[in-house]
Amino acid sequence: MSHHPLSHHHVIIIGSGPAGLTAAIYTARANLAPLVIEGEPSSTSDQPGGQLMLTTEVENFPGFPTGIMGPELMLQCRDQAARFGTEFLTAKVTAVDFSERPFKVWVRDELYTADAIIVSTGAQSLMLGLENESRLLGHGVSTCATCDGFFFRGQEIAVVGGGDSAIEEATFLTKFATKVLLLVRRDELRASKIMQQRALNNPKIEIVWNTVVDDLLGTDKLEGAVVRNLATGAVTTLPVTGLFVAIGHRPNTDLFKGVLQMEDNGYLVTQPGSTYTNVEGVFACGDVQDHTYRQAVTAAGSGCMAAIDTERWLEAAHG
Ligand code: NDP
Repeated sequence: MSHHPLSHHHVIIIGSGPAGLTAAIYTARANLAPLVIEGEPSSTSDQPGGQLMLTTEVENFPGFPTGIMGPELMLQCRDQAARFGTEFLTAKVTAVDFSERPFKVWVRDELYTADAIIVSTGAQSLMLGLENESRLLGHGVSTCATCDGFFFRGQEIAVVGGGDSAIEEATFLTKFATKVLLLVRRDELRASKIMQQRALNNPKIEIVWNTVVDDLLGTDKLEGAVVRNLATGAVTTLPVTGLFVAIGHRPNTDLFKGVLQMEDNGYLVTQPGSTYTNVEGVFACGDVQDHTYRQAVTAAGSGCMAAIDTERWLEAAHG
């Protein structure tokens, strides 16, 4: 390998959420000395550690019976990966060339090469873009009912959105909340008929039509939402203690357009039951290729799969 530049690695992992860090732990323990390009802290969408950095308490990750803070969990995973020789680069990948091996990855004008690539760039929840929204995220504002619904037992909360996700979240949240207001910006739902019926039939869900959120109230935790009726112009304050933003997700795949096969919605395509992408030697794991489960533990599980797929592929004389 003497022809390789100094920045050559067996494996480069792009992204450092639960999927990327689990892939790092496994490939590091397989003596592959992975380089993780972990993202940049300034950004709200592709920060090191991924979406868990935007959450507070995680109660559903096995092994933490009393819960663990999302950022703390990611820090521990990072330490665990580092312990076995993972190298970290705190930066954002700006371009890739996977057309020949070794694969090329650029961070601005610095070139890194690798025999195999694991893509774990994750996804991001679309947000409303309100000033107080990011500050109150994890403090009443959430993008994940499965994760946070439990914290809203006996409370009155709202869900924003009119698609299948919004109705799925609202329905799930009725297990905990006394009442769920579904804030829909038009006078009809985008969701499938069967999901619409589910919402309409649920006595705990109240659909509030033609309504957008203008502002969120509260300093340390959410105390209310200022909403506006687009038909009448009327502005009211809803005394909700929880607000779930369910207006869709976007996978972080801009880098891979025209490079890796993706679905119409931008999620990477992996061969069923594996982490193989359409490019041999490039593997994908975590939310970037999963719009169904989107859980830390499933992301970690697929990160493990990617590491094993990578190791076996390299072993089969591609390294
Ligand atoms: P969608 O894009 O389908 O729906 C987004 C919803 O959010 C729409 O009602 C949209 O309103 C609304 N919205 C978007 N931006 C704003 C905003 N700024 N303010 C207020 N409302 C806004 O996303 P989903 O995540 O719901 O679904 C994504 C895909 O996943 C779909 O194909 C869906 O069918 C699928 N899915 C299926 C499920 C199931 O079958 N169980 C569960 C979850 C998802 P508008 O309609 O006005 O654009």
